[in-house]
Amino acid sequence: MVGKINELLEELRAFTATNLDEVEQFRIKHLSKKGTIAALFGDFKNVPNEEKKAVGQLLNQLKTTALDKVNELKDSFTNSDFDKSGLDLSLPADSVKLGSRHPLSLVKNEIIEIFARLGFTISEGPEIEDDWHNFSALNFPEEHPARDMQDTFFIEKNPDILLRTHTSSVQAHDMAEMELPIRCLTPGRVFRNEAISARAHCIFHQIECLYIDENVSFADLKQTLSYFAKEFFGEKTEIRLRPSYFPFTEPSAEVDVTCSLCGGDGCNVCKGTGWLEILGCGMVDPNVLDLNGIDSKKYTGFALGMGIERITMLKYGIKDLRLFFENDIRFLEQFTAAGF
Ligand SMILES: [Zn+2]
Repeated sequence: MVGKINELLEELRAFTATNLDEVEQFRIKHLSKKGTIAALFGDFKNVPNEEKKAVGQLLNQLKTTALDKVNELKDSFTNSDFDKSGLDLSLPADSVKLGSRHPLSLVKNEIIEIFARLGFTISEGPEIEDDWHNFSALNFPEEHPARDMQDTFFIEKNPDILLRTHTSSVQAHDMAEMELPIRCLTPGRVFRNEAISARAHCIFHQIECLYIDENVSFADLKQTLSYFAKEFFGEKTEIRLRPSYFPFTEPSAEVDVTCSLCGGDGCNVCKGTGWLEILGCGMVDPNVLDLNGIDSKKYTGFALGMGIERITMLKYGIKDLRLFFENDIRFLEQFTAAGF
């Protein structure tokens, strides 16, 4: 009996098939009610009692071997198409590679988050503007020399249709359309007819901030600037204001922050001065308020604006502005920030 079982075990293990029909024949021959294994189980009653345990185990092993063989062969034929193509479906899948946020988006989002904590909300407007919203409503009268400060791409002349030269144009829309008080933040793309170099581009990004209410003072502006500088560049950052000129603000100032790389001691990035210029700002010129239908005797406001490329270059120590637009993956992959 044991000899018979071992002989059959060998036969089962050695069996191979070339199609599913052969597997089915094999199953019927060995595993059906009239099959070889059932016959051996039938003979089991004749086995002497003292051998029953060992023979029983051997018989069970035989049955398991036959069942495993049938399942294994069935599987191999069911998946035969994949076998022929050389695919191994049991391999782990390739992970999907996610891109990273563009550094300009990271910095823009960070700035938006800081101002959102002060109650500013995002406001957007068209990139193709008319003369009124880009210039006249912001106190750039026709023939005013201040218009030459921004080399403009015109789409049409008379009436002037142009690519906006600053996001202040969105503020002109907001002043005319929004309910007071206004606390808006205008991120966006702007266009100027400038030669492309390491420090300038004909397309770049700005983010501006406008606050108009009763009793808004220069102290509010200074506090807002100080809060932004500390949140963005670090707790120890100091600000410095220098008088400047913009057509839409009076008084106007340029804002410097203490160099975050050398802490104010002087280094290459701050050219030894310990200060970095980050943005322009000022109190909204009463003319601008009146031009946009806001009573300048009752309301005052401040505005500030910065170039996102410039801030990003300062934050990450990037020396060439053109890198932002080349989309070189080796450059872009270096930027990650939690929470964006
Ligand atoms: Zn420095």
